[in-house]
Amino acid sequence: MLNGKTALVTGSTSGIGLGIAEKLAAQGANIILNGFGDVEAPKASVASAGQAHGVKVGYHGADMSKPAEIEALFAYAQAEFGGVDILVNNAGIQHVSNVENFPVEKWDAIIAINLSSAFHTMRLAVPGMRAKNWGRIINLASAHGLVASAGKSAYVAAKHGLVGLTKSVALETATTGVTVNAICPGWVLTPLVQKQIDAKAANEGVSLAEAQKGLLGEKQPSLQFVTPGQLGDLAVFMCSPGADNVRGVAWNVDGGWVAQ
Ligand code: NAD
Repeated sequence: MLNGKTALVTGSTSGIGLGIAEKLAAQGANIILNGFGDVEAPKASVASAGQAHGVKVGYHGADMSKPAEIEALFAYAQAEFGGVDILVNNAGIQHVSNVENFPVEKWDAIIAINLSSAFHTMRLAVPGMRAKNWGRIINLASAHGLVASAGKSAYVAAKHGLVGLTKSVALETATTGVTVNAICPGWVLTPLVQKQIDAKAANEGVSLAEAQKGLLGEKQPSLQFVTPGQLGDLAVFMCSPGADNVRGVAWNVDGGWVAQ
């Protein structure tokens, strides 16, 4: 379905981004990976997911908090892949603290990586998509893009901002073949959430299994983690012709979190 398209997935060396990259590759999209840490294992798993289509898998290590590096990432995409057809803004970090103790540098980093990076990638991707009259932009917001939790002021502000940014650019492109949408996951068991489970176990003096159960019980009525593969399946749908008029939505996949 996506043969001949190129998808850039930011923050795709781990977790949700990697799961989405694998699902898009399985549909035939060439993939540009981005993110920190080990690159060879994610590259191999995405290549294997797209093997039947012979997809090309590239990597660029841009730090998504740095606009100049995001520009270098787009120059790489243009030179090596002829541009970006599918943009998945997924890179993100978390920090948990009450507002009065929130480290200023953590606030700045969360806003830069979780929100401003999507502004930069969109401003760079939209002209090429408009020229081809086809494009898909999928922003990984969060249930925290729709409702708040204590201790997550920067993250909630960034994710609400990302939902607003999604709607605005969806309107700007509404008469074109470019769609812009957000996916709002509940808890997904990735390194980002494992850190919060570890902290909860330590703070409450309970086992990791109990902390995990408690974390789900507080927010997620299904009591099950959402999986990166399920989010990848939704991303694939958003890239399909069936989603040509899905525009500006903030689609929660959250086990019932925001229905409460
Ligand atoms: P993760 O920690 O597993 O992966 C984050 C990815 O982002 C990694 O590849 C990391 O290297 C990359 N990254 C971090 N800082 C970066 C930077 N400055 N530049 C480039 N890459 C950077 O986290 P995840 O849980 O897979 O989260 C992915 C996205 O999904 C985030 O935006 C997160 O806010 C969102 N999300 C996660 C959950 C969840 O429960 N895990 C829920 C809702 C939304």
